[in-house]
Amino acid sequence: RAPAGGGGDFNIWYGKKVGRQEKEALQATTRMDPARDTGRTQASRGDRFCVYFAQGRCKEGSRCEYQHRIPTEDDEKALSNEVDIFGRERHGSDRDDMGGIGSFHRENTTLYVGKVPAEGGGRDVKKEVRAQFGAFGPLEAVRFPEGRECCFVKYRFRANAELAREAMMGQSLAKGDLPLNIKWATEDPNPGAQKRERERAERKVREHLRQEGVCLADTSYNYPVDYRVPGDSEPPPAKRP
Ligand SMILES: [Zn+2]
Repeated sequence: RAPAGGGGDFNIWYGKKVGRQEKEALQATTRMDPARDTGRTQASRGDRFCVYFAQGRCKEGSRCEYQHRIPTEDDEKALSNEVDIFGRERHGSDRDDMGGIGSFHRENTTLYVGKVPAEGGGRDVKKEVRAQFGAFGPLEAVRFPEGRECCFVKYRFRANAELAREAMMGQSLAKGDLPLNIKWATEDPNPGAQKRERERAERKVREHLRQEGVCLADTSYNYPVDYRVPGDSEPPPAKRP
């Protein structure tokens, strides 16, 4: 069996990840229960975390050479930028499907969670997501885009996001649900960051139009007061003398 930390056996891990690339996540057959599965192992603080523990299928128990517990702020501080908590190398660029180990250029505390069931039938899906993902570390924010069956779960620490991704991949929130498909988020759920990203995109468009020779000067000031731009419901604001 491959060492639970991965580390030196990057290709083995990569191979496993490639096999998981399909759109629908495979239903996980085991699940980690923090209350049942965390405990002392042969590992000391600072050692790698056990990916089999994260997936609820480590058979080594207290004999395991890797850590079986929920990472804390101290683990986050000790974490190298170049590896994840399981000791797997992070990449210089993101995988196309964002399903891989993650890029060290990205903060990577936010998970994209796909196949989230729609609200209804007396279920509080938002509460289920917060409770089930919150079991793997402190959450910063959970965002549910309107009308889409997915959500973004942002952890305070990357260490917990990495654990949660392994722990929740292919799990269902409730019996009968589709397995969740979990990737690293490309979108920052922080509204401030989103606004900056939009402004940056707008500046790029303006710059492009300027290069094309489109006049971008604001000409509304000399419109007659009752003039309406076609398609505009509001007249341009009247200029004070
Ligand atoms: Zn283990």
